[in-house]
Amino acid sequence: MYKTQKFPKTLKYLVTCPCCDTARFSIGVLEMLLWAEQFGEVFVTSFFRCHNYNKSVGGKIGSFHTKGRAVDFFIPQVSVRELYDKLNEKFPDSCGLGLYLKNGFVHFDDRLNKARWNG
Ligand SMILES: [Zn+2]
Ligand SMILES: [Zn+2]
Repeated sequence: MYKTQKFPKTLKYLVTCPCCDTARFSIGVLEMLLWAEQFGEVFVTSFFRCHNYNKSVGGKIGSFHTKGRAVDFFIPQVSVRELYDKLNEKFPDSCGLGLYLKNGFVHFDDRLNKARWNG
C-alpha cells in the first residue's frame, strides 16, 4: 500500500513562481537536476516564472521558464563552462542550453530540438 508522502518543501519552493503561488515543472528538468547533483551542490537561480514575473525580469515571451520546462543553475564546484560542456555531452541532439558566463549560470530547458546560445 502506498504511503502518502509530503511534497518536499524545498522542491515546492523551487518550482513555485517567486511572485505568486503558481507552481509548474517538467520531469525532464527535475531528472536533469538529479543527474547534475553528482558534480556538486546545485544552486537554482530561476525555475518556473508565471507570465507576469517573466516579463518583469526581462524574460522572452513564451520562454520555457513560463512552462516550468527551464532552469537556470550553477554548481560552485564546477565552472559554468564545464557545466555547460557536461550538459552538451549528455544531450548532444536536444534541449536548450544557454551559457551565461558573466552571470555565472547555465540555462537548461527540455525542448525536443537542439538550441545553443551564449547569454
Ligand atoms: Zn508569478
Ligand atoms: Zn533560463
